[in-house]
Amino acid sequence: MAPRNTGALAAELTRRLRGEVRFDPGNRALYAADASNYRQPPIGVVLPRDVEDAVAAIEICRDHDAPVLSRGGGTSLAGECRNDAVVLDWSKYCDRVESVDVEKRRVVCQPGVVLDQLNRITRRDGLVFGLKPSTHGQCTIGGMIGNNSCGSTAHHEPRCRRRFLLPHTDTPGAHRS
Ligand SMILES: Cc1cc2nc3c(=O)[nH]c(=O)nc-3n(C[C@H](O)[C@H](O)[C@H](O)COP(=O)(O)OP(=O)(O)OC[C@H]3O[C@@H](n4cnc5c(N)ncnc54)[C@H](O)[C@@H]3O)c2cc1C
Repeated sequence: MAPRNTGALAAELTRRLRGEVRFDPGNRALYAADASNYRQPPIGVVLPRDVEDAVAAIEICRDHDAPVLSRGGGTSLAGECRNDAVVLDWSKYCDRVESVDVEKRRVVCQPGVVLDQLNRITRRDGLVFGLKPSTHGQCTIGGMIGNNSCGSTAHHEPRCRRRFLLPHTDTPGAHRS
């Protein structure tokens, strides 16, 4: 569904968000592709500063009837990261590892953290996230959950989604943990 008024949508996002709002043709072209052969310029792109900013962006898009699509490293192979939607790029600002509980072997992190970045931090305590897609230097935890990624350790590690207890949800009004 296309938004009724893209200009008004961009203006409200720009006014209310702290993150970056990019609706110009150059940025729409940049985000028209992922690692697949599919091409589709988005309505526009939002780089939220934090989870609250992303929730606000989703609420604004809902009010303007604009679909929303998340993006991490953009390494998807089947066109998952491009569509006629407002793209939320989590990778620039929402990339913090918030806590590491060594005893429980549990990490709380934001969805835009790159897998190698996460492992660099947890390895200090002797822990690594066991799954390893070939794109481990670029792929994000949010994108790995989205794709249910696996990789070179797939024969002895459960797939990605089975490793997450309570991922943050970015649906307005939904429970966030
Ligand atoms: C050369 C190459 C090798 C690859 N090798 C492997 C491999 O060995 N194993 C494997 O499993 N895959 C592989 N892939 C595919 C891809 O790299 C992985 O699936 C990777 O984990 C995707 O992560 P990403 O951050 O790039 O996700 P993206 O491509 O950015 O997104 C993936 C999906 O998750 C959704 N998403 C992203 N962030 C969020 C969020 N915060 N909230 C909700 N949804 C979100 C997106 O909308 C999309 O549907 C490979 C790709 C390439 C190009």
